[in-house]
Amino acid sequence: MEPVIGLEIHVQLLTRTKLFCACRADYFAAPPNSLTCPVCLGLPGALPVLNKKAVELALRVALALGAQVQRVSQFDRKNYFYPDLPKGYQITQRDAPLAWGGSLTFKVDGELRTVRIRELHIEEDAGKLIHTETGTLIDFNRCGVPLVEIVTEPDLRSPREAREFLRALRTLLRHLRVSNADMEKGELRCDANVSLALEGKLGTKTEIKNLNSFRAVERALTAALDYQKERLIRGEAVHQVTFGWDESRNELMIQRTKEEAHDYRYFPDPDLVPLVVSPEWLEQVRAEMPELPWERAARWQREYGVPEREAEALLSDPARADYFEEVAKAVPNPKAAVGWVLSELWPYWTDEEPPIPAQELILLIQKVEEGVLPRPKAKEFLELAAKGEGRIPDLIQSAEATVVRDEEALWTIAKEVVESNPQAVADFRAGKNQALGFLVGQAMKRSQGRADPKRLAQILLELLKG
Ligand code: ADP
Ligand code: ZN
Ligand code: MG
Repeated sequence: MEPVIGLEIHVQLLTRTKLFCACRADYFAAPPNSLTCPVCLGLPGALPVLNKKAVELALRVALALGAQVQRVSQFDRKNYFYPDLPKGYQITQRDAPLAWGGSLTFKVDGELRTVRIRELHIEEDAGKLIHTETGTLIDFNRCGVPLVEIVTEPDLRSPREAREFLRALRTLLRHLRVSNADMEKGELRCDANVSLALEGKLGTKTEIKNLNSFRAVERALTAALDYQKERLIRGEAVHQVTFGWDESRNELMIQRTKEEAHDYRYFPDPDLVPLVVSPEWLEQVRAEMPELPWERAARWQREYGVPEREAEALLSDPARADYFEEVAKAVPNPKAAVGWVLSELWPYWTDEEPPIPAQELILLIQKVEEGVLPRPKAKEFLELAAKGEGRIPDLIQSAEATVVRDEEALWTIAKEVVESNPQAVADFRAGKNQALGFLVGQAMKRSQGRADPKRLAQILLELLKG
């Protein structure tokens, strides 16, 4: 028995206004029911007008996935009753979606996998129900927010693979600047379909609706597979069921069975003309496409020598990728920038904003590379600055102010080190150049990190040769 998984993914598009009206689309922190109008509330007589920007963002996704954009697509009404849907129908595209086909290639445990895309269409979001102890409240702000829905073929073979696919898709969406694709905020949501194939023959699928985290996708799919296996082992058939996922209890919840399936009575929305995407428009969208994440990873490897794994981590968020790129461009050894950003700075990067400006990290790395700031000191400064306990330029300046500039003091330190390390001195004279590094280290220790290591090396060299 082999697991077979297909996903239907909803992505909120980053437009200023909603899909069919001029209401602002950034509902997340807005007071409930403050972003509505007759169009998105579905009041009689109100007419929808399609948001061009939303179409362009959806086209970007289609192009990045290599999908075939249709010259003419169309909007349909999907009719159903639910309190979060004041119009009584959702405007979507069913019979003639924006684009067909395409694929996304990603990595699981070092192996490349490709998932085919079935189709991609534009639709509007519904409102939000807020369940409280005294009753259910409703917020219509999300009504009419633009979504692109991406439907995959059933090409995924394990819950883990489904999770990694979604991760790769999120990276892509973020780089395309079409969505923040934050699952916690519901900007990226996923319905997962799963079945067990027997000797290559597809089984009946169960669907899990509205998964809101990568962990939920993996766990819910695992639970659904267990449920199906148990039934099959007991000799029972798998029925078409729709589940929800209870994140806190780690449990599937039955939402409806096939008998309760809706008849959505789809028909073309008479208020909207067909959507025509001319070749010129499509070319313009193509010309404005940002660099794709896999293109960027390849370029980083070429230009900066960034290893693949590190590139993947840096690329997970374009803001961090841009930050890294700014640093890599400016420092003498770009490959060293990887460690500074990924290992040193990353742990402090918990908000959207970077813990310190790129210019400050650049300054810090430059000082280390020039040999005027010992690495442990630099890490200390980074920690202080990241915690808001100082600014890098000030910290560096105060450190430089206490650097031992007194030549006599430096010579004294160097002489002491030469005297107390006869073995290293002998090694150096026998041709072991790395012994000099050791002696510089010892001298730096004696100066409590306050000397200029370059000057110390010069003095030591003179002493050793003299
Ligand atoms: P429905 O008509 O029930 O919505 P679709 O054929 O439209 O089903 O497919 C919806 C999603 O389910 C797609 O992502 C598809 O890849 C996936 N899917 C279809 N059949 C199966 C199956 N047997 N097992 C797992 N996933 C499937
Ligand atoms: Zn509106
Ligand atoms: Mg379907």
